[in-house]
Parts: sequence; structure tokens; C-alpha cells
Amino acid sequence: ELAAWQRALRAQFPIITSHPDLAYLDSAATAQKPQAVLDAVQTYLTATNANAGRGTYTWANRTTDLVEQTRDRVRLFLHDPDPEQSAVHFTSGATEGLRTIARDWLPAFLADGDEIIVPAGDHQANVAPWLEAQQLLAGQGVHVHVRPMPYQQSSGDYDHTALADLAGPRTRFVALTHVHHVYGGNMNVHRIRQVVGPEAVLCLDAAQSIGHLPVSVAEQGELDVDFVVFSGHKAMALPGTGAVWARQARGPAFTPGGWSGTPNTVGIASLTAALDWLDTAGIDRIERWTVALAARLTDGLRHLDAYEILGCQTSLAAGSPVQQRHGIVTFRHRAIDSGDLGFILFSHGFMVRSDHHCQGSAGEKTGSVRVSLHVYNTVEEIDRLLSVLASLA
Ligand code: PMP
Repeated sequence: ELAAWQRALRAQFPIITSHPDLAYLDSAATAQKPQAVLDAVQTYLTATNANAGRGTYTWANRTTDLVEQTRDRVRLFLHDPDPEQSAVHFTSGATEGLRTIARDWLPAFLADGDEIIVPAGDHQANVAPWLEAQQLLAGQGVHVHVRPMPYQQSSGDYDHTALADLAGPRTRFVALTHVHHVYGGNMNVHRIRQVVGPEAVLCLDAAQSIGHLPVSVAEQGELDVDFVVFSGHKAMALPGTGAVWARQARGPAFTPGGWSGTPNTVGIASLTAALDWLDTAGIDRIERWTVALAARLTDGLRHLDAYEILGCQTSLAAGSPVQQRHGIVTFRHRAIDSGDLGFILFSHGFMVRSDHHCQGSAGEKTGSVRVSLHVYNTVEEIDRLLSVLASLA
């Protein structure tokens, strides 16, 4: 039943169906777009294209409405319990979203002697902006201490017990990632609020979780965070799209950037269509599908001695903390350089990422190959990839 559901969804991606000899395995970098998103782009550009917020005619008004409706669409997608008390700001992607918070909001929130927690093993987009904010404040005589987020060795998620020893009353801001972009593990951020207390602001980089697993900021939901940042383009909207959702309960209001010029209206149109598509497809089922494919790949790799799988515990020994991988599996060959392995795989039609994956300063020092999946990927692609990898073992 899940297989029939997946076949019907895969058929909605023209770039996938028109390249039967290729397997796109780089969705953590950017996702492919379903026909519904392509249609929304075409419809917007042929029926209503105008600038937002400055017209007295129908197209301009419709575009202004589209931007406002998309803010509400983002709130709905995140199960925002109180849309009156949140802000949604559109960006070009997760990097710009995190940078905007660091530049336009964080400096006003922090005082001399405050501490911030930075996850230096996560994507550099969730490391560098916070260090830059610290530098900027230091130039103004405001000294902020940066503490590195501790990680658990075995499971790869955040070590909330070690964090409890590290965090104190001056811990005001914690940068978090929902799903790790190299290891694919859920970082279990729901444990963090209790450790840092009710006053600290939590900022969540959801670049690898939006569109892959349920993300809910509802009261009874798991995520008592203050910011959610994501890439629209990894969630099947156009390149150059992303958003910041901000709960306005703690700290100064998030009012980014002053005059921001012409918004990416066509990108915003694509974002509404993409979030509609994902909700209709069913995030729960997408999660089941990509977790199962990643598990199949991990299990296959585990039997090939030539490969080392990176990140969270991969042994199935009794009692070991085994993390599910949310559609991301990263590995290296013990003898073949990862760049070369990427070329070899492409000669067999597999499009993967092979490098250092933009990890922060505490990241892997040697390159690796990352396979990242979405709902259009198939069991057959995984099995074909495993047989090519086995032939190189
Ligand atoms: N954070 C994480 C966890 C990511 O995986 C990525 C993309 N690789 C980013 C941030 C940056 O996203 P964007 O490309 O939208 O700027």
C-alpha cells in the first residue's frame, strides 16, 4: 500500500520520470519539484505577476494577498498555536534565515556577560552567524561567551546531561538543529528546554526536517522553540526560498531588515504550493518511506567491510542506541577517495554529494559521500546503488 502511494507521488516529478537512467540522491542539498509546484509557478507568472504591497490594481493586490497567505501557510504547516503572536519572514534559504536572526535580532537580546550555546558539529550556517554576532557585540564592548554544544558519542544527538552542567542562568540563547545534515539523526531537541529553563531563546535549524517529518510548535507539540528556520527549496519550492518563523514571546520582537525591497513573489507562490503538496502527500508517510530507505542502505553498507558509515551508532548490538536516519546516510570507502567515489557513482547514474558537507568547525576532517533521499526515491535505486558499492568493495 505504501509502495503504491509512493509510485503515484514519484510520477508527479517530471525531472525524475524523464531521467529513468539517473537516480537523484542529493535532496539534502535541494529537492526536486512536483508538477503542482511547477503549475503554481506558471499560473502565478502568467496570471498575476506584479510587485507586492504597492498597487491599486488586481494583480498587485493578489500578489500582496499571496505573500500574506503564504505567511499563514507556513504557520499552518508548523501547527502554530497562536498565529497572532508569531512573525514569518521570507528569506532565500536557511543560511539567510539564521544570519538574519543573528544580525537583526540577537544583538539587541544579549547583554554583557551572557552566554550562548553553539552546535559546532552542525552545518556551518548554524555556527558562523552566532560567532559573527559575538564579534560584532565585542566591538561594542559587550562580551558574550560562546559555549560549544556537547554531543553524545554513541547516538550523535545533543548531550542534554552534559548541557545541564554547562548551562546556567546567563545562558540566553541556544542554536539547535532538528535533523543532522551529515548523519541524518534526529538531534532530540525536545530535551533542551527543560535543561536551559523557560527564559532562554531556542532557535531551530529545521532545514533537514521540514518536509521529512512532522514539525510542530503547538503547545502540546514537542518543540518549545522560539525560532524555526528552514529552506523552501529543500521542501520542494523554488531555489532562493526559505522562511523564519518567530514566536514573539521571549525577547524583543523579530522585525527583520527594515526596507527589504521586492520579495521573491514567484518563490513565495511556489512555497505555498509545495507546503500544500507535502501536507496532501502526508508527512508521516514521507517519513516512513525515507527512514525505511535509509535503513535499507545502512543495513546493506554494514555488510560491506570496505565502507565506514559516519555518525550515529550503526551496530545493532542489544541495548546500543541506534538512531533512525531521516533519509540521510553518509559513508566513505576505506581505500577510494570520496571525490573519486562520487565520480564513479555518477558514471553509474547516481547523483550524490561527496565532500565535507559544509560542517562547522567540529565536523569531519575527511571527505565522505552523502546519499540523501526524498519521497521520489525507490527501493530499486537503493538496491542498485548497493550492488555498485559492493562491486567496489
Ligand atoms: N542548515 C542545514 C542543516 C542544512 O542542511 C543546510 C543546507 N545544506 C543549510 C542550513 C543551508 O540551507 P540553504 O541552502 O537553504 O541556505
